[in-house]
Amino acid sequence: MIIIMKPDASEEAVGKIKSMIESRGLTAHLSRGDQVTIVGVVGDKTKLQGTNIEMAEGVDKILPVTESYKVVNKKFHPEDSTIQVRNTPIGPGHLVMMAGPCAIENHDMLLQTAEAVKKAGAAFLRGGAYKPRTSPYAFQGLEEEGLRYMKEAREATGLNVICEVTSLKALETAVKYVDMLQIGARNMQNFELLKEAGRSGVPVMLKRGLCATIDEWLNAAEYIASEGNTNIVLCERGIRTYETATRNTLDISAVPVLRSRTHLPVIIDPSHATGVRSYIEPISKAAVAVGADGLIVEVHPCPSCALSDGPQSLTFEQFDHLVRELKPYAALAGREFV
Ligand code: PEP
Ligand code: MN
Repeated sequence: MIIIMKPDASEEAVGKIKSMIESRGLTAHLSRGDQVTIVGVVGDKTKLQGTNIEMAEGVDKILPVTESYKVVNKKFHPEDSTIQVRNTPIGPGHLVMMAGPCAIENHDMLLQTAEAVKKAGAAFLRGGAYKPRTSPYAFQGLEEEGLRYMKEAREATGLNVICEVTSLKALETAVKYVDMLQIGARNMQNFELLKEAGRSGVPVMLKRGLCATIDEWLNAAEYIASEGNTNIVLCERGIRTYETATRNTLDISAVPVLRSRTHLPVIIDPSHATGVRSYIEPISKAAVAVGADGLIVEVHPCPSCALSDGPQSLTFEQFDHLVRELKPYAALAGREFV
């Protein structure tokens, strides 16, 4: 449930409500808007019986939150959140570009890619060190060696770095090297991994599962948030449908749907959504127009030589061109590149 405070409720009144909730073993989340403060309550609300909380000083009204996700729910926090990763804001008014290879293949290709995407305007370098490949015989990633190259690229360029983690062991290692963890489509409902990502406190990009509904996706985000980490960005990367012309089917309507249900930022991955290099630009324009907070795009020095996802990877020149093409769209959407 949420407790909506009166516009003129004092700090002291808000503090008393918070203490009352916590003294009953529940958790209180404060959201301070321009007009009103909302106190979100997580836990068994029957424990509040007998407190007469609705009559307490400064309380305007109490509303139930029927959805099973609470902390990430828009009702708990009506204003869209900005997630800060080092000095980079992800959220309203900004457009974040994350770019890099599907997999970190070696030192030089990663460093070259980092320089190129930085020059073109990216704020994040992406790169997989633990690759969830369909075939166990396909390249599985350089693991910690790859993470070391990521850290070196971060030091050389100042870019933030993001890597996917596919296991608890990978997470434990990755937190020593990266600015943001990626939980991929195949692990969206790996609840132990989600909880550990929550406990790590490191910002997380949570991709939508291949066959996940928006409700399941938000509940997965709640697993992270319920451990005290609300630094979460959602990434729509396409879902499985009967269509085979593209690798997945981008659910563009997920962006406005999420806007109405959660305060978390939303970005789009046109690379995995389409699987086809030539579709990246039109889909990226649509993503900005529909209100996405950013894009994550695969870029490779030589896509035809890539060990994974070459057909959907852009060359350096194509990525540079993409960022230029997106500028007027970002301006129209009231967003500045970060
Ligand atoms: C990736 O980003 O490299 C990846 C494997 O993505 P997804 O989890 O969306 O398939
Ligand atoms: Mn990939």
